Amino acid sequence: MKPIGQMQAPDPRNVEHWRADFPILGERVHGRPLVYLDNGATTQKPASVIYAENAYYRHSNANVHRGVHLLSQRATEAFEAARAKIARFINAQRPDEIVFVRGTTEAINLVAQSFARPQLKPGDEILISAMEHHSNIVPWQMVCEQTGAVLKVVPIDDTGALDAGAYERLLTDHTRLVAITHLANALGSINPVELIVAAAHAKGAPVLLDGAQAISHLPVDVRALDCDFYAFSGHKVYGPTGIGVLYAKAALLEAMPPWQGGGDMIHSVTFEKTEYNAIPWKFEAGTPNIAGAIALGTALDYVDGIGMEVIAAHEAGLLAYATDALQAIPGLRLIGTARDKASILSFVLDDVHAHDVGTILDHHGVAVRAGHHCAMPVMQRFGVPATVRASLALYNTREDIDALIEGLGRVREVFGS
Ligand SMILES: *Cc1c(COP(=O)(O)O)cnc(C)c1O
Repeated sequence: MKPIGQMQAPDPRNVEHWRADFPILGERVHGRPLVYLDNGATTQKPASVIYAENAYYRHSNANVHRGVHLLSQRATEAFEAARAKIARFINAQRPDEIVFVRGTTEAINLVAQSFARPQLKPGDEILISAMEHHSNIVPWQMVCEQTGAVLKVVPIDDTGALDAGAYERLLTDHTRLVAITHLANALGSINPVELIVAAAHAKGAPVLLDGAQAISHLPVDVRALDCDFYAFSGHKVYGPTGIGVLYAKAALLEAMPPWQGGGDMIHSVTFEKTEYNAIPWKFEAGTPNIAGAIALGTALDYVDGIGMEVIAAHEAGLLAYATDALQAIPGLRLIGTARDKASILSFVLDDVHAHDVGTILDHHGVAVRAGHHCAMPVMQRFGVPATVRASLALYNTREDIDALIEGLGRVREVFGS
């Protein structure tokens, strides 16, 4: 048996070799080869990740941290090895700074309820930005409602970049937490996160970065960033759904009360008093997604095997190619043109509804997202109800972009635009 979660490393030579690692790319949709450009919603999985989940259930399935028997030990070892791998991937100082959660959404809710809620008082402020995903808005609105704290929003400019001057002005002595995306899912803007963290820390405010998009497109080093919390989802970085990560500095996790109670998060329980487990298990009540965690580790091995710099350079080339091609289409308006940008092409085409564009593209074999991308305030900021969003991954090619452009030509024929 191969060790859990290990298979051949990806071939670093070129995208055709990477594509061969993703079985789903061989699918046909509506009689055409699949062109998958909806990676901002979720990424496809390499065979090694699919194999890792499968191998876990075939050879190692047991509950973790419990059994004395061999399978349980094997499962526990693989689960904790995945945690260590994730810590290395984002350069956390210690594996116990990695809390397994369901995804970015759960990670942010955990911070809102366990870190923010106990200390927030009326008049305290939480600072977010105008380019956030609903997952980095609603949990803060909820905790503000629960505590009387106030939600402040840093505006963005017409390119979709953060208004850095406004950020500095909105940071005050009342700011208790800054929660900002690393890479905006509806716009592609990359935020100047080092500056954001430094300015917040100068005011004594910790920073949570929503890394749901960034994790698959940019090298992430939480120690270099010096962020206090970093959240991401496995499924957006070639791993499974239902598993995600909250990174937090150990001292913060130590000081935070547990969020959910149950098994695994305790050291001892009597009816009089329960002693909580050490971090990170204090935050992992109940049986976790063991297979998912292990397979996420495999996904990060896959990314490491190619190299994030190599992936980022490949995607930057595609982004430039696609931006030029889209801008040459009459009536097409790109939404999100920040100078620092990655992997997201959001646009509207004349007054054709985004869903109609998406449907015609689908019949062309091209999968994109059409809608508000869980970022309705971004749509309002740009005065559109919805956009079409093509989003890139390591396995996309110029041919994929050409298929998108060809499909948009078909849209213009149908709608006479
Ligand atoms: C996808 C996404 C989320 C939510 O991730 P889930 O996996 O649905 O929890 C949050 N923020 C951003 C920027 C995203 O792209």
